[in-house]
Amino acid sequence: MKCPHCRVAFHDKIQQHSYGKDRDAEWVMLKRECPDCGRFIFHLANLEEVIINEKNKV
Ligand SMILES: [Zn+2]
Repeated sequence: MKCPHCRVAFHDKIQQHSYGKDRDAEWVMLKRECPDCGRFIFHLANLEEVIINEKNKV
């Protein structure tokens, strides 16, 4: 992905943190760290979305 801070593209190394399940979905916070500028990028997603993204990568 491209870092939203410095616009440098880098390889995703995602850390996931689960926040539990509500009636709609299971929610996870995705954390990436840009190796170029050292900033974090957070993304709130539901687990279904994460699984779809993982599938698209392959
Ligand atoms: Zn960056």
